[in-house]
Amino acid sequence: MPFAIAIDGPSGAGKSTLARIIAKNLQFVYVDTGALYRAIGHSMLSRHIDIEDDAKVAAGLDGLTVSIAYVDDEQRVIVNGVDVSDNIRTPQVSMAASRVSAVPEVRRFLMNTQRDIAKSQSVVMDGRDIGTTILPDADLKIYLTATPEARAQRRLLDLQAKGIASTFEAVLEDMRQRDYNDSHRAAAPLKQAEDAIFIDNS
Ligand code: C5P
Repeated sequence: MPFAIAIDGPSGAGKSTLARIIAKNLQFVYVDTGALYRAIGHSMLSRHIDIEDDAKVAAGLDGLTVSIAYVDDEQRVIVNGVDVSDNIRTPQVSMAASRVSAVPEVRRFLMNTQRDIAKSQSVVMDGRDIGTTILPDADLKIYLTATPEARAQRRLLDLQAKGIASTFEAVLEDMRQRDYNDSHRAAAPLKQAEDAIFIDNS
């Protein structure tokens, strides 16, 4: 039976760093589910679909295929045959991902893609609702968080390393907005699963 580790928490808590280390040490597949929501946000933006309009976002899923591939052990996200992985890390796409992820049709659309990966192999999967919704029977659940300031500082360094200019204040504001969106949406909001281990990574 494959083994599943679910890591949930807000952005910038260090989920992907932790998940990558675990995956490397245990030879598990690392699945970054945020990249899937980012790919949908990116697709909506590039087609000029009004992301504030849930019905238009839901309609925009028609004809869309989103899948994950692994190249040299790195996860890539493929949208209608095109690898968009290098275009989904901008602040605009972060915000679009946060918006479209609140649309129930989007969450349903991505559900099986996530579950299927964990059926055939051992995974460490990070996101917002992995322990609560996607893999409720995961063998180990971790809820990883940190103060908004610590998370913003980390995210700023990430962006700078990628050559994306920003400021601490702008990143902190973005983060607060996304935290709010992610924890207040009706569909699978960010919250700690009852059986998750809580870790403050500040
Ligand atoms: O983790 P990352 O910052 O890349 O996620 C981008 C956005 O995608 C988050 O702000 C969140 O709104 C959404 N997301 C989600 N559920 C997940 C993973 C990400 O709603 N499992």
